[in-house]
Amino acid sequence: MSDAVVEISGLRKSFGQQEVLRGIDLRVARGEVVCVIGPSGSGKSTLLRCVNLLEEPTAGRVVVDGAELTDPEVDLDAARRHIGMVFQQFNLFTHLRVLDNLTVAQRKVLRRDRAEAEAVARRNLDRVGLAEKADAMPAQLSGGQQQRVAIARALSMDPRVMLFDEPTSALDPELVGDVLGVMRGLADEGMTMLVVTHEMQFAREVADRVLFVDDGRVVEQGAPSEVIAAPKEPRTRTFLARVL
Ligand code: ADP
Ligand code: MG
Repeated sequence: MSDAVVEISGLRKSFGQQEVLRGIDLRVARGEVVCVIGPSGSGKSTLLRCVNLLEEPTAGRVVVDGAELTDPEVDLDAARRHIGMVFQQFNLFTHLRVLDNLTVAQRKVLRRDRAEAEAVARRNLDRVGLAEKADAMPAQLSGGQQQRVAIARALSMDPRVMLFDEPTSALDPELVGDVLGVMRGLADEGMTMLVVTHEMQFAREVADRVLFVDDGRVVEQGAPSEVIAAPKEPRTRTFLARVL
């Protein structure tokens, strides 16, 4: 058994004539936090969406927690069950109160009974600092609180890995810190995380490894102290000069 939770090799993805991912290899070890940075349109979201096969790769192999998702024979629903994903837009069910947002998939997919699903949900709301919001409707919450609910919802499925796609990009600046704080807590607890982000300070402090992606390729990767603080590649330098 390898200790990699995510293993991607030779990943390519085209939309029509446009090749968006041009051969990505990536291994994320258990407990590792990998941050993906890069310009808009470079393929970061597509990469993340290929990890749980929300996008079907054109070529290459994706293995998560021992299951090869690119194997045509794989039980995709089963393989996806323990891959948590948090998007820029929180995608909460607006007609359901917070607690029910957290129990729906647990009951349908993991077949937990109501009492167990609610207990797990309350535990995870507490984890993101929103225990008292269980009965609220999403519209009554701030964007930052909604995003923390989305994180708690993903956590309620006992994820082996959490994928974050610019989770703070849609938030007002004063709400970003709470969400990053929750993510930092998860990292400290040993959660395996793959995070697309423009928050360089977060990447610097929390990432074990930073990947700079440009034009569908990993241009440079390494510790944040290398890639962010002392980038080697001209393209990484140009990008950082714009965002820092
Ligand atoms: P990033 O997240 O780095 O901004 P994306 O992965 O969203 O980049 O997009 C990379 C490129 O792929 C962009 O040119 C985008 O327009 C294109 N793209 C993404 N999704 C689709 C899609 N479903 N159909 C066609 N083109 C797409
Ligand atoms: Mg994106």
